[in-house]
Amino acid sequence: MKINIGQLRKDIGGTQSFSFKTSAEDLGVDNQQGLWSDIITVEIQVTNKGNIYQITGTVNTAINQCCSRCLEPMVHVLNIPFSEDYKETELEEIDNFSSREINYFTGDEIDITDLIRENILLAEPLKPVCSENCRGLCPECGTNLNIDTCGCNPIKTDPRLAVLEKLLSKD
Ligand SMILES: [Zn+2]
Ligand SMILES: [Zn+2]
Repeated sequence: MKINIGQLRKDIGGTQSFSFKTSAEDLGVDNQQGLWSDIITVEIQVTNKGNIYQITGTVNTAINQCCSRCLEPMVHVLNIPFSEDYKETELEEIDNFSSREINYFTGDEIDITDLIRENILLAEPLKPVCSENCRGLCPECGTNLNIDTCGCNPIKTDPRLAVLEKLLSKD
């Protein structure tokens, strides 16, 4: 995925928009389990700030996961914002820069494949939940508590209340 700044180069302070359609495969993201949606779109705005080009944008995609509480399959829509600066430099100089605080490029093209891939991988939810109110599965019998109830009553009773309950049940 390359941005051509040939036109923008002459326009200091100017901004140009780009949009791309890509896929996990094209980005080199492992998708054997069909985790990522087939469609990944990228909206980008590039601003010419002298010899630095600021690239801001959003990656839009979806991820197919299972809820970490109830294990139901779910689709999580992701809109991932990003912003990164790219500095124009001579080809021979690139290896001399050890600092990665800024990215470097030469010529008219900025390759943003790595940038997009990193943003996608960082956005993968580690503990996805289908809803903040998801009640999960009963640890005793496995009933999905969003759909059904069961008689296991896994909610631990407050020990002080348990004493009280015992006293009351004696009557
Ligand atoms: Zn759930
Ligand atoms: Zn149960």
